[in-house]
Amino acid sequence: MNPVRVRFAPSPTGYLHIGGLRTALYNYLFARKHDGTVILRIEDTDQKRFVDDAEEDIIASLQWAGIEYDEGPGRDGGVGPYRQSERSDIYSEIAEKLVESGHAYIAFDTEEELAGMRERFATEENPNPRYGSSTREHMQNSFSLSEEDVSSRLASAHPHVIRLNVTPGETVSFTDLIRGDIAFATENVDDQILMKSDGHPTYHLANIVDDHMMGVSHVIRGEEWLPSTPKHILLYEALGWDPPKLAHLPLILSPTGGKLSKRSSERAGIPVFVNEYRSAGYESGALINFLALLGWNPGDERELFSMEGLIETFSLERVGQSGVQFDLNKLQWYNEQYLRQRSAQSIATDVKPLLAESGIEPSDEYLERVVEVMKERISIPSDLVEAMYFFQDPTSYDDKTKKKRWKEDSSDLILLFSEKLDPLEPFDATTIEIALRELAEEREAGAGRIIHSVRLATSGVGFGPGLFDLLEVLGKETTIRRLRAAAEILG
Ligand code: GLU
Repeated sequence: MNPVRVRFAPSPTGYLHIGGLRTALYNYLFARKHDGTVILRIEDTDQKRFVDDAEEDIIASLQWAGIEYDEGPGRDGGVGPYRQSERSDIYSEIAEKLVESGHAYIAFDTEEELAGMRERFATEENPNPRYGSSTREHMQNSFSLSEEDVSSRLASAHPHVIRLNVTPGETVSFTDLIRGDIAFATENVDDQILMKSDGHPTYHLANIVDDHMMGVSHVIRGEEWLPSTPKHILLYEALGWDPPKLAHLPLILSPTGGKLSKRSSERAGIPVFVNEYRSAGYESGALINFLALLGWNPGDERELFSMEGLIETFSLERVGQSGVQFDLNKLQWYNEQYLRQRSAQSIATDVKPLLAESGIEPSDEYLERVVEVMKERISIPSDLVEAMYFFQDPTSYDDKTKKKRWKEDSSDLILLFSEKLDPLEPFDATTIEIALRELAEEREAGAGRIIHSVRLATSGVGFGPGLFDLLEVLGKETTIRRLRAAAEILG
């Protein structure tokens, strides 16, 4: 059997997005499972949409996510270069070959002429007529023009493109490893541009040339590329090359419906770039685990996987065909699971700079105790920044909680409670709880009522970690100070 060689082939037209990361992941898992090779190929033929630091971001994001590639920019495997912009000569040569063999032809049409064609041939059934067998005779190309005309235009450097010559009345078929047998009628395939007038190849030409020359055995990519596949198959046939095996991954859908795009994810409040998850403090393992199960399932109930576990379990057969909805809550759940496995110390290290941004600089020891108490309650480290009451006395008290929880005798009760706390030694969750329950009994007030008032008084809000843990972390002095202040302010 041929060795498994897969490629992740992003275009540096933007930062790596989560859909791209999932594609890279599935390629990686498949390759590692089969002792294969992962290639990173930069598809930068579209100079107009080029983003300067995109390649850097893609590489850094893959590295953060733990997806290593074996060949790519800076890692030569003998079939490079791995940036398409450095391979121009190869594509021109192949395009010329295709013209010579009649599988491609030269076309001179201007933008206006193309727009005119679309207008002229549009019908109700076919509002977007293709440049192809039924229209090409009416256009400016080596079908419609005389040989002399074509030669003289070329000699005078008349702008031109090279188009694929698609023969009508045929069927292009292939087997997709996820979707099974697929067939397209060539009537529905346009005479795709292969070389642009700027001398650069289009995605289609460069992509298949490189897949072939880089010995790619399996193309694993998003479903949005499925409509391009018949063009690719026709190109392979024209060049007498065997196409690689193909697998098209299901679309990732937005919770608001439709494909998860930059715009729809913004609307749904979902970060779209991998670097946003990274800077928000998500665990790369959690994101990977989440993305692995976004379109694939292990065939049983398991949800938590290490990268090694994924490699062992992954198979293309268990990748689904239908679109899968992106669920940010689920990712948060994953992150919580990963976060809980980390030490308070390492989480504290992550939170420290975030707090410093707001001018909060607690001691390491104090911050670790806060993390210890909050670890089970946060999804990402930055959630801790919301629990400001650990670091600052409340400057206001939540209105709703006040209305619901603050009673006529609350102020008396918390003052009495503060008196009970004063002599407490040690000041820990257990002794604090005993003191509170004593007070409740003495005053024949429900413990719950006192707890709610004390929480509001010491944190300013109506929710948070267990009250006794909170007070222990705050310490005696702070607790008593806050209780007295609240009794005065809330009355
Ligand atoms: N450059 C394409 C992209 O940006 C690659 C598609 C493919 O994998 O063939 O996704």
